[in-house]
Amino acid sequence: MSPSFIRGWEERPTRDSMKSWDRRSSAEYREAQMALLRSFLKEQVLPFSPRYRRVLGEAGVDPDSLREPADLSRIPFTTKEDIAPTKDDPQRSREIVLQPTPDSLRESLPLGKKVRLGLQKWVSGEEAVRQRLAREYRPVSVFFTTGRSALPTAFLLTRFDIAILEEAGRRIIEVAEIDPAQDRLISLFPYAPHLAFWQVYYAGLGGTVFSLNTGGGKVMGTEGILQSIQKIRPAFLVGIPGYMYHVLREAHGASLDLSFVKGLGLGGDQVTPGFRTRVKELLEGMGATRPRVQSVLGFTEARKCWAECPGEAAGGFHTYPDLELIEIVDPATGKPVAEGETGELVYTTLTGRGSCILRYRTGDLIVGGMSFQPCPHCGRTVPRIASQLERVSNLKSFQLSKVKGTLVNLNVLKDELENDSRVEEWQLVIKNRNDDPFDVDELHLNLALSSRVPEAEHDAVATQIERRLFQISEVNVNSIRVLPLRQLLDLLGMETQLKEKRIVDLRAAPASRPGEPVTR
Ligand SMILES: [Zn+2]
Repeated sequence: MSPSFIRGWEERPTRDSMKSWDRRSSAEYREAQMALLRSFLKEQVLPFSPRYRRVLGEAGVDPDSLREPADLSRIPFTTKEDIAPTKDDPQRSREIVLQPTPDSLRESLPLGKKVRLGLQKWVSGEEAVRQRLAREYRPVSVFFTTGRSALPTAFLLTRFDIAILEEAGRRIIEVAEIDPAQDRLISLFPYAPHLAFWQVYYAGLGGTVFSLNTGGGKVMGTEGILQSIQKIRPAFLVGIPGYMYHVLREAHGASLDLSFVKGLGLGGDQVTPGFRTRVKELLEGMGATRPRVQSVLGFTEARKCWAECPGEAAGGFHTYPDLELIEIVDPATGKPVAEGETGELVYTTLTGRGSCILRYRTGDLIVGGMSFQPCPHCGRTVPRIASQLERVSNLKSFQLSKVKGTLVNLNVLKDELENDSRVEEWQLVIKNRNDDPFDVDELHLNLALSSRVPEAEHDAVATQIERRLFQISEVNVNSIRVLPLRQLLDLLGMETQLKEKRIVDLRAAPASRPGEPVTR
């Protein structure tokens, strides 16, 4: 299937259609994006999206009036709460799916496309036209958001969207500088109807790279994964940071040779500088030469991921300006921030079918915002998202005293614990005192310490860590338990969960807690 969306560029007035997707000037991108947005709204969204036909109608948005990025503010934001299913309306997320009918198709198709379809009908018959439209519009797959407090939201994909997913995969391989001719890839992402697993699968297809998708520890087991690593000798391992570290530690414990590994691709969780250092050291200890550690960012609502290119200082996530429009806004005012300033990532589909969203507030804070300058490492001119982000889901409100709630940034604790080389694994358990939902919240930390720390020093180290956590977060941990590594790995569910249980919140239902941000 030819990726028809690439034609989007050729149909627009661009000066040099031989330039690839990633080497145009900022001004060219901006102009092309506004043109894509206008035609996407006119030809797809207004005629076929039940939600946005209503929302844009109520806001009085005329697509033709959207000329400059500043005009975007006329389109209302979409939030998680706007589209997440509720008990009363479990099908609510279907509202954002493009759903053409024969009548709406007849009315809204641009003349050029009408003529093409008419010709096809004349040459190949009515059934051929029906098949073509089904490939474009009929959902064939679905990803779900993962969330603790909100019900999972379904994002549907058609064959058209799968082609985009595959193209995004091809670009990830290209940006990450994986050489399809010789590099093999093993994915440790858990098998689930989630974006990460399938993005890697389609990256292998799109980039023509041999890959083994293990399904993670829950499916193949760490033992099985280590065996396939030895057989396949992959240049790249990709997966969730927590489980990746576990697999590398097991490989190190078994004195395996991983000299063939060139690097790691990590996604699904934040990668702290301390974590980067740790996994690099482990890999070098198994013979790898100057291994690269690159992150991949993605979220279900975008139905695709973005990669970092291999540079010493991270150049950020390289986005696809022909497929999406990304804004960074002040989370309090919703106003756009300047280039390089921290703010919340807002996402708009420019090329897609199935579930399409406009100005979607992701809740992810990008520290250092976006850059429109050429990447210092690879020279690509695409907009880049800074590598450090803070998921709002890690900002939790705590009732530490009976008087008032406190907002605690758990990312700060995560950074500290991952930077401390004495800590091998950790788990934070949050619960109500005496398991009474009306009592205050308590934090309990489980630690496994590095084998380099003598047992006689465990208590002293635990006390030092407790003090340090208080210094940086002003939150008192109620108890610290030092556990044997195996026991903590069981508690984390490293071999049994889709994602390890790093922060366990056992408090009463979050819905009853005012001020708690809704997490995915
Ligand atoms: Zn780059």
